[in-house]
Amino acid sequence: MTDEITPGTVHLVGAGPGDPGLMTARALELVATADVVLHDQLIPPTALDGARPDAELIDVGKRGGGKQVPQAETEALLVEHALAGRSVVRLKGGDPFVFGRGGEEAQRLRARGIPYEVVPGVTAGIAGPAYAGVPVTHREHAPGVAFVTGHEDPRKPESTIDWEGLARFPGTLVFYMGVRRLPRIAESLVAAGRPADEPVAVVQSGTTPGQRVVVGTLADIAARAEEAGIQAPAVTVVGSVAALREELRWFEERPLFGRRVAVTRARAQASGLARRLRALGADVVETPTIRTRSLEAQLPDLAPYAYVAVTSPNGARELMAALLRSDRDGRDLYGTTLAAVGPGTARALRAVGLRPDVVPETFTGEALAALLGATQPSWSRTIEHGAPKALLFRAAAAGDALPDGLRAAGIEVTDLAAYETVAEPLGSDDLDAIAGCDYVTFTSASTARFLAEAGGLPGADGPRPVSIGPVTTEALVELGIAPAVEAEQANLDGLVDALVADAAERPVVARRGPF
Ligand code: SAH
Repeated sequence: MTDEITPGTVHLVGAGPGDPGLMTARALELVATADVVLHDQLIPPTALDGARPDAELIDVGKRGGGKQVPQAETEALLVEHALAGRSVVRLKGGDPFVFGRGGEEAQRLRARGIPYEVVPGVTAGIAGPAYAGVPVTHREHAPGVAFVTGHEDPRKPESTIDWEGLARFPGTLVFYMGVRRLPRIAESLVAAGRPADEPVAVVQSGTTPGQRVVVGTLADIAARAEEAGIQAPAVTVVGSVAALREELRWFEERPLFGRRVAVTRARAQASGLARRLRALGADVVETPTIRTRSLEAQLPDLAPYAYVAVTSPNGARELMAALLRSDRDGRDLYGTTLAAVGPGTARALRAVGLRPDVVPETFTGEALAALLGATQPSWSRTIEHGAPKALLFRAAAAGDALPDGLRAAGIEVTDLAAYETVAEPLGSDDLDAIAGCDYVTFTSASTARFLAEAGGLPGADGPRPVSIGPVTTEALVELGIAPAVEAEQANLDGLVDALVADAAERPVVARRGPF
């Protein structure tokens, strides 16, 4: 029966140089549908996030002892999985056909009659320089660019690189894989006729938060790179374009570049904050300490309620889910004053098709209570149902400020637990990752409490704790740590602003070695 199986297609896919945003749409699509993904080490950290939960993910970049899986074995795996009828993605750093052995793999597949497709990727030799502010071609500097391996085939006794030929090349030279051979590359180029004062830039871990760039000339670049501790992966750009970095650098100028920031909020909610921090240049470590679990609450008849209040985006989503679960929808809120604690919750309500009537200017339970207390309920509710009633649809064990404030305003309160916050287990790797950060963000009291429970609260010389607002700060203080930074506005914008302001005052701690 095996000879009846149609072989699956092998996709030779480039994953780009490291920045997750530089993966192509096609690469993401193929990763999301593949049965098997055979990947290298040098792929973006999030490259496999979209893979199917049942997909087989094979790291051929490294094996037990840290050694690379031999090429022949990788090719045999490609053939084996394809012949079993699986759809295979061979995911490589950068572009699969630029020093990626993609050509050899395609030849092997062709020889075995296995269909394949090639998905080009953004290659490190263009992207690394670009993120360093170095255009590899430029009308006034370089009419062409050559990609060269700095790592010659060790089986060949003599240099296989034609240095004279390369030196004559009228344009930029980009060397891949040559960090350790930098002294030899620079010397050989000068001996073959390139000027010793020709500008050179070395870009390590280009496009990632760990990007490091050293600029010099052919005469001194080897010494400068060594002094800076430059390591693989790095590309070396030789040519007058390298000097443009001075004028064109941009990546490292972003306000949080060089800062490592832990995000402890629930994974489902982390992405917005993580994205914002990354866009500002931060190296974000996602270590959720909590997650929410729906309590599948049964909503009562809403007709008697003058007010319905939700106090988190999760509560907003739960409200609509609860309506639909009981075969109702947003129309059941007709005549009710719908309140959201802040703009994030208001947005989440709109996203499920509900427009909040009331959002306080300060985003706290007290402020919401004061505002609702001052908001006249719709006449139909008071006439037909007597004293105004409020339904709070929120987390189990949420604070008393809101219900107390409402009661004080003469409103009858039903506090319905929509969901609960539970601990997301943290391993020692997670705790180490947090300890290695410059900042750890707390977006709710529970993120602080659960991190404390896991034994991961930062010590005095650990990451600077950043609190989203007074309630979270209070929880942190109770746990024995004073936040270094507190948002002025108790929301994500406020938290990000406060973090950026704090970072501007403090020098970046240099990190050596690759990310
Ligand atoms: N196919 C890849 C190259 C693979 S060879 C591509 O197209 O980019 C591996 C070499 O690529 C490394 O030794 C280094 O020279 C370069 N490289 C890969 N990622 C890099 C990065 N983020 N920054 C700088 N150089 C990188």
